[in-house]
Amino acid sequence: MQTPPELRGRRVTVVGLARSGVAAARLCAREGAQVTVTDARPAAALGPALEALAGLPVRAALGGHDPADLTGADLVVISPGVPAGLPPLAAARAAGVPVWAEVELAARFLGPVPLVAVTGTNGKSTTTALAGAIFALDRRVLVGGNLGTPLCEHVLSGERADVVVAELSSFQLEAIDRLRARVAAVLNVTPDHLDRHGSLEGYAAAKARLFETQQPGDFAVANLRDERAMAMAGASRGARYSFGFGPPARSAARSPGQDPPAGPAEIWFYRYAAGSPERYRVAGRALRGRHNLENAMAALLCARLLGVPGDAVQRGLDAFPGLPHRLQVVRERGGVEWIDDSKATNVDSAAVALAAFPAGARRVVLLMGGRGKGAPYAPLRALLEGRVKALLTLGEDAPAIERELGAAAPIESCGTLAAAVARAADLAVPGDAVLLSPACASYDQFASYEERGDAFRRLAEGLS
Ligand code: ADP
Repeated sequence: MQTPPELRGRRVTVVGLARSGVAAARLCAREGAQVTVTDARPAAALGPALEALAGLPVRAALGGHDPADLTGADLVVISPGVPAGLPPLAAARAAGVPVWAEVELAARFLGPVPLVAVTGTNGKSTTTALAGAIFALDRRVLVGGNLGTPLCEHVLSGERADVVVAELSSFQLEAIDRLRARVAAVLNVTPDHLDRHGSLEGYAAAKARLFETQQPGDFAVANLRDERAMAMAGASRGARYSFGFGPPARSAARSPGQDPPAGPAEIWFYRYAAGSPERYRVAGRALRGRHNLENAMAALLCARLLGVPGDAVQRGLDAFPGLPHRLQVVRERGGVEWIDDSKATNVDSAAVALAAFPAGARRVVLLMGGRGKGAPYAPLRALLEGRVKALLTLGEDAPAIERELGAAAPIESCGTLAAAVARAADLAVPGDAVLLSPACASYDQFASYEERGDAFRRLAEGLS
């Protein structure tokens, strides 16, 4: 068990005034530290953050970072959006000043409450939310980290919990020191944020810290098909569990079903021996697709390994509503499902969405386009063939999509989301799905993927 750090009278500088940074500053102020907050943005852009700190003995140094505020501190705490390679941070480290992620600070105040930490390139939010929903059927749980409430906010709230489930990004894991997860799960490690970590190895190394701090008796959970994830979990001194598709194995969750599962999929949980597994069904639409089955396996392991009874796990899997904008059914109309997957802002995400629909049925009317990210669309061709009856394009990158995917499905340029929805309503027949999985960012026509998804929902709901 961690004892909280002694912060009274210590100089703590918090870098980055997003929600996590604000919570960290408030926690340090509560503990009697001399707190300085610094952000690259000027005060005018930080209204709500500064309001949340009003009246507290916190000094603000805004519109840039004075290196002296960091090198002269006893401790630096960084908000997750702050690049760990920021020169003043390097200077602080060189000066021997510890640099902690906000979650590192929070974890030291959790006392004996076990922490379940979920990381990976894709699927963190879904897995964290699902694990949280399952735990909630059996005990008091706080769900947070990158998803939802920052952990420092939980600490400040004084709310009691029996377990904390946290989504942690690689950005956060770069600056952990002693944070110890009773269960640490890594879903996958694929090229993302390479601009920041330099290489895939650097990226994986940043996350491996989560496993290095584990102790005997803890649990390390990793995706069998992902070599880097498995190697990361290999750094753990805890018991190792894998999840994936395929034959039985001890210490594992396995899904033995078809790909993609035609009916309800199953997860088999083998604790010690490969003999007789516990069996669970994943039947809900909220967890459709192989990728979600992986997320479900990871969440199930987190819960079962910490003793949540099997029937609660099953109820949690059955009742999980899914997260907004991730393959979310927003309307059913005349036998047609309208599905918002606006979170698919890149080609890889659109690919996992398409793979969740049966091949050969040609039952998907796909809405795609927006601001492209420069990656080729051609890898989607094979997934479109046999699945997509019509591809309706919108946004800036429509010409590139049409050029690269033209042969895979009939294409129509619609320009806007509203036009695409109207056209989809004409084309879809009972049994079809209208899927918004744009493979592009939203910024050419919307403020965010959330706004784009909400617009899709409203348009779908508005259909007579
Ligand atoms: P994160 O929090 O890591 O961004 P989410 O749960 O929000 O993850 O899912 C984001 C997107 O990542 C989903 O819309 C889907 O396209 C993709 N995704 C989710 N889970 C997985 C997985 N296990 N493997 C690969 N891709 C996934």
